[in-house]
Amino acid sequence: MILDGKIASESLILDIKEKVEKYRENGEILKLCVLQLVVDDASKAYLRGRMKMCEKVGVELEVYDCSNSSKEEVIELIKRLNNDKKVTGIMIDRPFPKGMDETEIFSYLDPKKDVDGCTIYNAGLLFQNKTCLIPSTAKAVLELMKFYNVELQGKRVVVVGRSKTVGAPVAQLLINQNATVTTCHSRTVDLPSECKKAEVLVVAIGKKEFIDEKYLNKDCVVVDVGIHYDEFGKMCGDVARSTYEFLTTYSPVPRGVGPLTNIALMQNLLIAKEM
Ligand code: NAP
Repeated sequence: MILDGKIASESLILDIKEKVEKYRENGEILKLCVLQLVVDDASKAYLRGRMKMCEKVGVELEVYDCSNSSKEEVIELIKRLNNDKKVTGIMIDRPFPKGMDETEIFSYLDPKKDVDGCTIYNAGLLFQNKTCLIPSTAKAVLELMKFYNVELQGKRVVVVGRSKTVGAPVAQLLINQNATVTTCHSRTVDLPSECKKAEVLVVAIGKKEFIDEKYLNKDCVVVDVGIHYDEFGKMCGDVARSTYEFLTTYSPVPRGVGPLTNIALMQNLLIAKEM
């Protein structure tokens, strides 16, 4: 079975649209503010996806180019948006420029408007399995598995990667779903044998087509979070495309987790609104 994120997103967007529309009928417009501290081709491309999504579901989007702002100016802007009742959610895009500490900057963000789950407060709530705003890529991984009814309770799940934005929150979300979770990282000894034990494998290693046949058992459900481009400019993931012939259930790249990331962001915006 192919865990097709495009199909899942086309289904999940309907519920989001309906909820946003209900708010509109009551004269309330959901508004997302995006702060970009670094503006380059990658940040522009990332923004385009969110623009399209906001337009589709009827969310207002306001973008702030902060590439020439000082730390103090960024903090002032965050405080202003925190206090603006018309602003539902705030997202401060990574990467941060040199000399700006992201933990410090995120500490000024109102956790109730933190729609990409970057504050320590939301991370703590996730750890306690309480309602919170979860990093959107991590949430997208779980949404994809939920859409395709991937059984998690009691399953041996291996997560490759432990970044703050993907691997670590995915592992915690899986524990909250009663999976038995192993997290692997760059110091893991014998990664292939750890991966081979998995009934479900989530890969967020950030290395183009790194995971190949020698890491996989064919009955494992494989979810690939990676995004890369090959020498022909074609998108690919952290898992080698050659494995698609041999795996029974996997998320491809493209059309896997990617299309659900902005869906997860919109779901977070709705949670923020309810908060
Ligand atoms: P990251 O911050 O670079 O983290 C990579 C993780 O993989 C780290 O925990 C690292 O371990 C581990 N790792 C690196 N080399 C390894 C090795 N040889 N063996 C075992 N573990 C290894 O990357 P990320 O931000 O989590 O992103 C992961 C992937 O997801 C990337 O391809 C990125 O492009 C993609 N991504 C996709 C979306 C989406 O919307 N689909 C969004 C965000 C990111 P250490 O902690 O020990 O260094």
